[in-house]
Order: sequence, then C-alpha cells, then structure tokens
Amino acid sequence: MKYVSTRGRAPELGFADVLLAGLANDGGLYVPATWPKLTNRGRRRHDYVDRAVEVMLPFVTPDIDEVTLTHLCTEAYSTFRHPAVVPLVQIGANQWVQELFHGPTLAFKDVALQLVGRMFDHVLARRGERVTIVGATSGDTGSAAIDGVSGCDNVDIVILYPLGRTSEVQRRQMTTVESSNAHAVAVDGTFDDCQDLVKAMFNDAPFRKRNNLSAVNSINWARVMAQTVYYVVASETFVEPSTFVVPTGNFGNVLAGWIARKMGAPISDFVLASNTNDILTRFVNDGDMTARSVVPTLSPSMDIQVSSNFERLLFEMNGRDGGLTSEQLDRFRQIGSLDVEPDQRAAFIDGTFRAAAFDDDATLQEISRMHDEIGMLVDPHTATGTAAARLFGGPNGPVGPMVTLATAHPAKFPDAVEQATQTRPTLPEHLVDLSDRKERTQTVANDLAAVQALVESLTR
Ligand SMILES: *Cc1c(COP(=O)(O)O)cnc(C)c1O
Repeated sequence: MKYVSTRGRAPELGFADVLLAGLANDGGLYVPATWPKLTNRGRRRHDYVDRAVEVMLPFVTPDIDEVTLTHLCTEAYSTFRHPAVVPLVQIGANQWVQELFHGPTLAFKDVALQLVGRMFDHVLARRGERVTIVGATSGDTGSAAIDGVSGCDNVDIVILYPLGRTSEVQRRQMTTVESSNAHAVAVDGTFDDCQDLVKAMFNDAPFRKRNNLSAVNSINWARVMAQTVYYVVASETFVEPSTFVVPTGNFGNVLAGWIARKMGAPISDFVLASNTNDILTRFVNDGDMTARSVVPTLSPSMDIQVSSNFERLLFEMNGRDGGLTSEQLDRFRQIGSLDVEPDQRAAFIDGTFRAAAFDDDATLQEISRMHDEIGMLVDPHTATGTAAARLFGGPNGPVGPMVTLATAHPAKFPDAVEQATQTRPTLPEHLVDLSDRKERTQTVANDLAAVQALVESLTR
C-alpha cells in the first residue's frame, strides 16, 4: 500500500514511513492511495484480534507481515479489561452502546494507541532509529499516548496539554507515569493553541529533523486505521446495516467509521454529536464551517474548533485534488471559514451524516436520564452521543440498529457524572490509587520558542 498527501505535494510513502512521519512534509495528512475492500480470509469474524488483523493487513503490507501484525494486535488488546475488547451493550429495542473504554487509560483512544505505540517500537527497532513524539492533547490523547509508548526503548514523548482544562483524572494519568521517556507539559492556552504549537514544530524543518519529530495525535494515519476495526466488528454483528452515533471532536473517530463503510462494512450512516463547540454540526446541518473561539465544556476532549482530521474527508470531497484542498485550507486559515461548494457538500453529507449539538445543561440532563432509565452511568462525551441517539432514534428512527460509541469511562469525568446523578463513579481497580501517586509536570508559556527549547532539552 502506498500513501498520498491530502495537499498533493509530498512524496508517496509506505506504511512504516507514514507511521513515523505523522504529518506529511507539505503540511498535509497521509491517506491510502486506494481504499481496500474488506475480505474474509477465514479468521474468526467475532474475535477482535482476528478481525483486526484482516481489516488492517492491506494497509500495512508489505512493511508489516501478517504474523507480526497478529503479534502486535494480540499484545495491544490484551491490555483491555474485557474479553470482547470493545463490547456491545443493548440499551433499548433498537439501541446499543459500544464500550470503547476498557483500555488502560479508560478512553477509546487506547484502542488505537496501544497498537500504534507497539508499531512504532517495532519499526524503529528494525531500523535502528529513535524518535521524539510530540503531541497536543485535550486530555485523553495524552494519557493514552503516554501509556501506549511508556515501555518503548526507541521513543521519547512530550505531550502538551492546556493548563487547567483537563480533568483531574486525565491530568494525573499523564503526570504520574514513571517512565523516564514520557513528559507531560502544561501550556498556558487552549487545546487549539497546543495543536498549533505542535503543527509549528513540524513545519520548522531543521527543528523537526534535529529531534526526529514524530506524531501520534489523531492526524496519524495509523490511529485512524486502528479505529476502523471496531466499526467493522460491531456492524458485522447485526443483520441490518447500522447507524453509528459518534461523539466528535477532531473528526478522527467518525472518519474511521466512514472508511469502514467505504471498505464495505454494513453501515448505513452516521450521526455526529458535538458539545457547544459545534463547528462540525453547523457544517453538516447548514454548510457553515466558521471557526469560533473554543468554549470549555464538561466534555473537554470535544472542545475543538478546527477538526484536523476533517482534511481527509475534504480531500475526498474534492475528488482527491490536493491542490484544491490545500487552497481551501489556506483560505480557511486566513478568513476562519471554509468554502465548500453546496453540491459538493450535499453529495458527501446528505444521507451519510446527520448531526446535533448539546450544551452542558443538556449533557447533564442526558447523564441523569441514562442513569434513571437504564441504570447506566455515562461520561459527558458519551452522553452527547446517547442524547443524539435519542433525538434521531425512536419510532421515526432508522430500521437498523443504532450504535452509540461510548468514548470514555464515567470515572474519568466523575464530577459531571456525580453532579447529574448524585452517584460518584468509581475507578477500576488498576487505577484506584491514582490520586495518591506522585505527579511530575511543568508549565510553559504559549510561545513557540519556549516550547521548542523545552522539547529539545527533554529529547534524549
Ligand atoms: C478524543 C475523544 C473524543 C473525540 O474524538 P475525535 O476522534 O477527536 O473526534 C470524544 N470523546 C472522548 C472521550 C475522547 O477522548
């Protein structure tokens, strides 16, 4: 498999190079040159690891062989504390929740990052190289990335997070890791500021080269790839094609679903759920993609205005014209609003995506309803999803099943859950002593030179 950049001016690369590069050197994102079709090579369809190998093999060939991929997947998914890895739980006649939070850091990002960390170490060891991963997090990516690479000999990792805007559990999961290769750094700014700093570091070619920079945030192709698997596995459980309801921030998760459908998974359509930061919902419903300032909410991992993975869908909307994609994004950066032709938008959005946004009050109400009606505690991100499923489901909803992705464990956001239900969710056993562990962190100004100096000093 070869990969091309969404901006059309970077060299085509194979999987291992794309994995390590993160961003393409023309500022674009890598996508496969063609979309493979799902096949069944005789492995067990309902076994997560077996199906994962079948789904991902075409994307990693020839750089990673089937035996190695099986080994990496087996190791990665043995860290999940449920034998089904990502179990489906029925919550209504036509409604399911897919629990993606049974990994080590209790958010769906573990599904990708437990695998991607192992893929990094495998590829680097074989090449005799090492890298420094830099990333921006609104909370969940950072802890999952740090956990995913904490045992890696060939990787340093520096994660920037917005000071005071992550939950206590999220912060502690990043700052209490004992590995000497992992560093969590608080930036005095928003998540978008952190993301801009990371992008600027990548765009500084000498700096990037000197420190062997690499990325595992949601722009990394391998993460999107790993996430396609649970859509395939869940949709193949049902007789009718399913609707997936996806709490959305950077668009990585829902993009993975779109790709699973493109590969032939029996998926009818998607519902995007947003919080008050509703740029994607406005785009889907009204064609309006105008960035506003980020508003902090109870679901911080969705407090995003510029959804970086949307670029991959835009590239497809543009018939894979990298020049056009690049122009549109330059203009978006200048004027803060994306121009997409109405026809082009309609062709891609209508019948495929619907969307709804919920503010903090609506989110709390939904958490409370889920507790009262079903006896289930859901975190605030997941609650935007179940609220959207409630809106679009019911008697007038789709004929097929609706599957809401539960993106975080309720104990990751205990304050909101307790406020809504008067019940405080408890952490799973492996994390019960989290608040007693010693924290290691530092704070840096929202300033590129300061951040670069720090990264340089932390690289071994
Ligand atoms: C990251 C995250 C999201 C948003 O996912 P995207 O891929 O950025 O759209 C939603 N919920 C939780 C709990 C997350 O960690």
